[in-house]
Amino acid sequence: MTDTLVFYSKPDPFELWRDALSPLLGDSVRIERADEVTDPDTVRYALVWMPPEGFFARFPNLELVINLGAGVDRLVARNDLPDVPVTRLSDPEMARMMAGFVLFSVLRHSRDIPHFEAAQVRREWAYRHPRAATEISVAVLGLGELGALAATEIARQGYQTHGWATGPKDLPGVTVHHGDEALAPLLSMADIVVCMLPLTPGTRGRLDAATFAAMKPGAAFVNVSRGEVVDEAAMIAALGSGHLSGATLDVFASEPLSPESPLWTLPGVLITPHLASVALPASAAPQIAANILAIRKGLPLANSVSRVRGY
Ligand code: NDP
Repeated sequence: MTDTLVFYSKPDPFELWRDALSPLLGDSVRIERADEVTDPDTVRYALVWMPPEGFFARFPNLELVINLGAGVDRLVARNDLPDVPVTRLSDPEMARMMAGFVLFSVLRHSRDIPHFEAAQVRREWAYRHPRAATEISVAVLGLGELGALAATEIARQGYQTHGWATGPKDLPGVTVHHGDEALAPLLSMADIVVCMLPLTPGTRGRLDAATFAAMKPGAAFVNVSRGEVVDEAAMIAALGSGHLSGATLDVFASEPLSPESPLWTLPGVLITPHLASVALPASAAPQIAANILAIRKGLPLANSVSRVRGY
């Protein structure tokens, strides 16, 4: 019998994913775009990024939902998610792309690039003596698949690197802190704070006014995870008062970021439109296919999402 894998994503090109998955799945799994499904009853697997409300109700025989990305907050928060296993991507190339973006952000702040960009606009030769990486401390909040690689890459560059997670971890060159009480002391000594926490009921709004107040005066802030982890008004206040020296922001509470947002013009702030990392068909297709083949054989799945934890 031929099963169907239904694909839905606005930003990701269907043809590239189909062509990467087809040879791995063989003839027994048909891959169809959501708006071209021939027989909804044969749909057993869904590969989706932010499908519309009511999407899952069309497919009564779903056995597996695969999130076409790493962050699952929008998927697990839905009321209409069927009671079947949910997996996400855990792709080394995606982690590498993210680590590169985070490293760029850390270098941007540690090498005073916002200062030189502002000076260039004024045609000013504004020499500022560089600091050694070893003098600069970086705190990475969230040490999951993406956070752990980013933290170890930062450590490899010689920065004093700290991380924060729910429990202890062993990462080369990274001093790992854990638990709520460890956060404020960690923030008080970090020159650059990088947010890589997933959005869950426990992290929504976690970086609030008190958290920004706990950061070292003059610290820089980087957010590449989800905008809703941050109290955006509190962050804007911390940037506006000069308590934070700048920020590199890839994610926002509301996307696209409104043209009215004060963030666009705050000094030292770089805005990028949610692209720190993306799923890549060539490297992610094998794990998607492996999970589909595993569920067909009743074998354990990789990269399962815990609905209870929310990540
Ligand atoms: P993971 O789910 O693998 O890891 C999450 C990490 O956060 C874990 O280390 C976990 O701790 C920690 N954590 C979760 N809750 C808490 C808490 N309450 N207190 C302290 N630590 C906590 O996430 P990834 O590394 O794969 O990805 C991080 C996020 O990046 C994604 O959730 C997604 O939102 C975002 N993302 C953004 C992209 C972009 O382009 N901007 C692209 C892809 C992802 P523990 O290890 O102890 O469980």
